[in-house]
Amino acid sequence: METRVIRVCWMYHNIMDLYGDKGNMMVLKNRCEQRNIQCQIETMEIGDDVDLTSYDLLFLGGGADKEQILLMDDLLKRKQEIAKAMEQGTFVVLICGGYQLFGQYYIAADGTKINGLKFFDYYTEASKNLQRCIGDIAISSKLDDLETIIVGFENHGGQTRNVDQPLGSVLSGFGNNMEDHMEGFYNGQVLATYMHGPLFPKNPKVADFVIYKCLHKQDPTFQFHDLVPLNDELERKARDVILRRLKISV
Ligand code: GLN
Repeated sequence: METRVIRVCWMYHNIMDLYGDKGNMMVLKNRCEQRNIQCQIETMEIGDDVDLTSYDLLFLGGGADKEQILLMDDLLKRKQEIAKAMEQGTFVVLICGGYQLFGQYYIAADGTKINGLKFFDYYTEASKNLQRCIGDIAISSKLDDLETIIVGFENHGGQTRNVDQPLGSVLSGFGNNMEDHMEGFYNGQVLATYMHGPLFPKNPKVADFVIYKCLHKQDPTFQFHDLVPLNDELERKARDVILRRLKISV
C-alpha cells in the first residue's frame, strides 16, 4: 500500500510555544512514523510566504500577550487563506493564546485590545483582578464519537466566554473561565483548548484523533479504528499521575 502522508503547518513556531507546546508536534510525528505514515511538518514565521491551503493540519500554540500582539497583524492578513483551508476540510488545533486569536477579540492584561480572526463568536478578556487560571486540569470530552478524559496544564489570565461548542466539561481546574466549568472549543474541525502540558503526549487518543481527521480529509473512507493501535503504557502512566493528583478516578 502507498505510504500515507500528512502535511502540517506549525504556525509561528518560534514565538507561540509555551509549556512544551512543541511536544505536540513531536508526538504527532512519532505516532505517524510508528504507523508508517509520513508526517511532514513545516514551520511558518511572521512574513513567511506559505500557502496555508496546502496543509491537512494547521497548528498554533500558546503565547504570552506580547507575542499575541506581535503576530496579530500578520495573522489577520492570512484570514482569507485560513478560511479557505477550513472550507477545504483542513483540521485546526489551537492552544491557549492561539485559541483566543480565532475568536472575536482578546483584551490583554494591560488593556490592549487585540482583534481576533472572528471565525467564532467567543471572545476573551483578561480577568478583572488579573488573577490567572494556573494548574493541572482534566476535562471530560466527546470528540465526534470518541469519549475521553483529556488532561493538561493551564496558565492563562484570559477569560473566554460565549463559547457555543465547548470541547468538554471541567472535572478539575478552570477551563475557559473561572465560572462556566467548560473548557475549550470543538466544532468538528477546529479543536481549541487552554491545555498545554502538552496536549498530545498526555492524551495519545487526542493525538490519534487528529491524525485520523487529517487522513479522513484525504480519504473519507478512513476511520478512527483504521489506525494501528500503539503501545501507550508510558502515556497511560503519565495521565494517571495527573488524574491521581486531581483525585479523579476513571
Ligand atoms: N496571554 C494569554 C493569557 O494570559 C495566553 C497565555 C497562554 O497562551 N498560556 O490569557
